[in-house]
Amino acid sequence: MGYIKINQEKITKEIAQELIDVCPFNAFDYIDSNLSVNSGCKICKICVKKGPVGTCELVEEKKEKIDKTKYKGIVVYIEQRNNIAHRVSWELIGKAKELALKTKEPVYAVVVGNNVSKIAEEALRFGVDKIYVYEDDIYEDFNVEIYTNVLSEFYDKHQVNIILFGGTAQGRSFAPRVAARLKTGLTADCTMLDITDEGDLLQIRPAFGGNIMAKINTPNHRPQLATIRYKMFNEPELITPNGEIVHEDSTNIKKETSIKLLETYEKPQVSDISDAEIIIALGRAFKKKKDLDLIEPLRKRLNAELACTRPLIENGWFDARKQIGLSGRTVKPKLIINLGISGAVQFIEGMKESELIISVNNDEHNKLFDISHYSIHGDIFEVLPKLNDLLDQIL
Ligand SMILES: Cc1cc2nc3c(=O)[nH]c(=O)nc-3n(C[C@H](O)[C@H](O)[C@H](O)COP(=O)(O)OP(=O)(O)OC[C@H]3O[C@@H](n4cnc5c(N)ncnc54)[C@H](O)[C@@H]3O)c2cc1C
Repeated sequence: MGYIKINQEKITKEIAQELIDVCPFNAFDYIDSNLSVNSGCKICKICVKKGPVGTCELVEEKKEKIDKTKYKGIVVYIEQRNNIAHRVSWELIGKAKELALKTKEPVYAVVVGNNVSKIAEEALRFGVDKIYVYEDDIYEDFNVEIYTNVLSEFYDKHQVNIILFGGTAQGRSFAPRVAARLKTGLTADCTMLDITDEGDLLQIRPAFGGNIMAKINTPNHRPQLATIRYKMFNEPELITPNGEIVHEDSTNIKKETSIKLLETYEKPQVSDISDAEIIIALGRAFKKKKDLDLIEPLRKRLNAELACTRPLIENGWFDARKQIGLSGRTVKPKLIINLGISGAVQFIEGMKESELIISVNNDEHNKLFDISHYSIHGDIFEVLPKLNDLLDQIL
């Protein structure tokens, strides 16, 4: 990257107009005889190549190369509430261990809370080499300001390479704060992680409404930060622990905060399709709300959760929490039955890791058929009554 430098001594009113005309992004402003580049500039270099000679030039920014060998360790931030870890943390440990096989570095966890020793022991059973524990009364409830101070202190002390956060409500507010404090980048909502040939963290996530998979890395800054959605990776096998619990001293961590916690209360428990083992997913093939009654016998028989595509949320038939996909929930059930769903990439990204996929569609080229273990080409209203029989054979 770099920036476009304007050689002002060569700029006249006419030349400024020529440059304004040549720029496809309206990135020049000519005010009070001064030509400047505005935020629309995409550094496409058309002004350098096609504008009046010598008026604009590309100045390459020289990046200071960092010494990557100074940073060691893949860290998972263990999100906890009431001293119960969010399971996404265990999934991230599984992924961190896979990545560490490539980068040959240790896997650490860090937990912040009060009386979190049980969590620390659990993390060891999931196979971390060390878990760093920050305990204090003031850490009882999540406070983004104080917790950021903790992670900042942790990083200053340990100079780790990668920190992974769950893409949960907490992770989504916490990780950006940590990134800003540590002056590094963050890729939110990754769906895949890998390591580049240069040893950097490859952060992969859908972009532009799921039409492309963006591959992002952070070659010039450390630590490398990413949030990852729940249910993207598998929890690792439990092992006989051989890691270490390190109790960190919190004395020097700033505990002042502008956030005042007035009250906490439990939200009423609602069933979450992310945790469901059996899901029947419904698509726009269901034209009338009344048609949903047809699902009931199958749903009861399988004790399944109902979920749906976005159009069924938009027409108000289901709560938004029932939507599978990029702008909904990610699910990984033992069985998912897709009924009358076209298989848009935005939907598939949210369910493709399901263990057993059955899809019913009247379009023989249905995209879900490509990732299904059993594909039924037919009309859902004819197939549905027969599905019970089929399930008898395969379950
Ligand atoms: C930024 C963005 C984010 C999005 N996020 C999501 C998301 O998170 N989740 C999501 O689901 N969508 C999302 N979408 C919308 C997505 O692009 C699709 O429009 C949507 O998934 C289509 O839903 P559908 O498959 O139910 O409907 P349709 O595309 O209309 O497909 C209906 C399917 O039913 C089949 N069919 C019709 N009648 C019958 C019948 N009688 N028997 C059998 N089959 C039949 C048809 O052949 C077709 O395959 C998003 C879109 C955008 C732009």
